[in-house]
Amino acid sequence: MTFKQRKAMVQAYRHMIETGLGTGSSGNLSQRTDAGMIITPTGIPAATLEPSQLVSMTLEGVVGEGELLPSSEWHLHAEIYAARPDINALVHCHSRYATILACAHKPLPAIHYMIVVSGVDEIPLAAYATFGTAGLAASAVSAFAGSGMACLLANHGQVAAGVDLAGALRVAQEVEELAAIYYGCLAIGGGEVLSADAMAEVREAFAGYGQQRQGDSTDPR
Ligand SMILES: [Zn+2]
Repeated sequence: MTFKQRKAMVQAYRHMIETGLGTGSSGNLSQRTDAGMIITPTGIPAATLEPSQLVSMTLEGVVGEGELLPSSEWHLHAEIYAARPDINALVHCHSRYATILACAHKPLPAIHYMIVVSGVDEIPLAAYATFGTAGLAASAVSAFAGSGMACLLANHGQVAAGVDLAGALRVAQEVEELAAIYYGCLAIGGGEVLSADAMAEVREAFAGYGQQRQGDSTDPR
């Protein structure tokens, strides 16, 4: 990965924090590479992260010589890349509303048509496992079975995927917004979930929109 690409990744990480998806050094992101993946290091806040500090490693966990320690959630990133060849970038964060749903063990239903960017009609909840473990990675991989581009992690946060990093970030932001809307609906007595037929029409409309693709949340309105 070139320095320019590393720099773009650091900017994406800062953008993630600045847009409220994470705080300080919470949250992590990665991109697939020929050798495996490149991922944010553990314990370094976005504000002070340098492009050279991003960690290059294999999906089996072998870290390059002289590299820092990778994010404690590297298993999660690596296992999803191994299971889903269509995913090239991942964002994991503890954004507030997605985390509220995850703590209440509520998957995110099709309360709004923009859930289409997640590739599924309901964003699933991955079963709880301790942070940083292979168990949590396995749980997330189950939730990413099929074509979904996002999941909630029980009592933890959310994971969003994309064909590229910009796409993964947009999905993470959309998941957070949808979670906030669903939270609001629940607070005033519930909400009406769109039918499978209605969502099929939305998918068709998005597919016909030209440059639209999964993992890209550009609203066609
Ligand atoms: Zn986490």
